[in-house]
Amino acid sequence: MNLLQKKILEDGVIKSGDVLKVDSFLNHQIDVPFISELGKEFKKIFATSRVNKILTVEASGIGIACLTAIHFGVPVVFAKKSQGSQMDPHVYATSVKSFTHNKTNTVVVAKQYLNAGDRVLIIDDFLANGCATEGLIDLAKQAGATVEGVGIAIEKGFQGGGDRLRSHGVRVESLAIIDKMDAATGKIQFRD
Ligand code: 5GP
Repeated sequence: MNLLQKKILEDGVIKSGDVLKVDSFLNHQIDVPFISELGKEFKKIFATSRVNKILTVEASGIGIACLTAIHFGVPVVFAKKSQGSQMDPHVYATSVKSFTHNKTNTVVVAKQYLNAGDRVLIIDDFLANGCATEGLIDLAKQAGATVEGVGIAIEKGFQGGGDRLRSHGVRVESLAIIDKMDAATGKIQFRD
């Protein structure tokens, strides 16, 4: 069992609707040394990739993206939720269905921060159905950037987004993959 799996078992709280709360170390309070270790792990996994930018989406991806970027020595760009029109000529825009809030947001990145020739590593806290990651891949594509891979802290494997992306040839590396979780019993089963 790796350190993240252990932490999930100790501190994770399973909510209804297949939501796992990890507010004590990732999504509300941030255990900076611990999350930085996860960032170090991503650096090891993607050691041979020539990443020059980390891409994530606000808000919950920003912390882990920054604590990963420090190990790569590269900047973080985060897609912003936009109230405005998708027609702004200065931004790349895409739609992302929010898993936790069950609504669709337009997220945007200013064109000046994502360019053709960029080699992007997408980082996020969770992967469920894969909509957030797909949106970020779409933004990178619009910019002509290359997606070197996707680093996820906690993938809920039973929701299928990660495996769908892998089947499309995307390199998705998750530090913990949950194959089953049960709100009634509190039991969590990880993929080996
Ligand atoms: P997806 O787009 O893959 O369906 O969901 C991923 C996004 O939804 C992540 O950026 C994350 O913020 C949020 N998310 C999905 N499932 C969970 C969960 O079980 N717990 C928490 N805290 N966030 C989740």
